[in-house]
Amino acid sequence: MKLIDLEGVAAGYRAGEWVVEAIDLVLEDRDFLALIGPNGCGKSTLLRTMAGVIPEWKGRISVGGSELGELNRRDLARFIAVVPQETTALIGFEVRQLVAMGRYPHLGKLQKPGPEDHRLVDAALERTATSRFVGRRIDELSGGERQRVFIARALAQDPRILLLDEPTSNLDINYQIEVFDLLYQLNREEGLTLVCATHDLNYAAFYSRRVGLMNAGRICALGAASEVYDADRIAEIYGVRVRLERGPRVVPLSRWVEGRGHSDE
Ligand code: ADP
Ligand code: MG
Repeated sequence: MKLIDLEGVAAGYRAGEWVVEAIDLVLEDRDFLALIGPNGCGKSTLLRTMAGVIPEWKGRISVGGSELGELNRRDLARFIAVVPQETTALIGFEVRQLVAMGRYPHLGKLQKPGPEDHRLVDAALERTATSRFVGRRIDELSGGERQRVFIARALAQDPRILLLDEPTSNLDINYQIEVFDLLYQLNREEGLTLVCATHDLNYAAFYSRRVGLMNAGRICALGAASEVYDADRIAEIYGVRVRLERGPRVVPLSRWVEGRGHSDE
């Protein structure tokens, strides 16, 4: 089943000034798509477009079989949850309170959360191993712990699709692996459909099912990492030479130290 279908979509922040263009992208149930590409290429903008929160767009966008224009924010939020990149706006919230926000789209205007809402919040805390932070404010947590709480909020929303914007960008390798392992399990074991923007080409290749390589507002290659990753293509788009290893694994090469990759001895 097509969960998201973009056909000839252009989107941006001001009318006529498209930041992403010519986007044709079908997201099937249980997909795990990693969006990669240089800074400013439009990854976040494409995620906002899929989430239905981009100010300007044209083309055809359907979500869960309905045209985007026919869905209100609440309908959309029951279908798609977003784990944002910037989390500073929610500093000061207590952990459970923040995760419980995931239930808002499911509640009526004056409706209080019921047993099922509490159960889903508990399950989301459990699933992300964040139950033990309940009672603390999210600014009292480390970056990795906080990121898991934001994933918990998205899970409490009980969505079909999770959109994540560079969920590991500020995390050490321990937390990076923890977040990607969790995403992998959510996708493979619980059938959640994921789109994750990331700068890590190697995690993208290792954990996702498909990779979408973006450049200057367009998706220029889409498919298995083994098909998308090409040393010349990556060199051209990122402006840095790379060595491609089996896996595939991408090793960026130093501009100064002859013959060396950044991870070479
Ligand atoms: P990426 O996530 O790949 O780094 P973005 O989608 O954030 O790229 O940005 C793509 C382009 O859109 C950039 O030129 C950026 O300056 C512009 N842009 C991003 N957010 C906004 C915004 N809120 N208003 C106006 N322009 C924006
Ligand atoms: Mg971004």
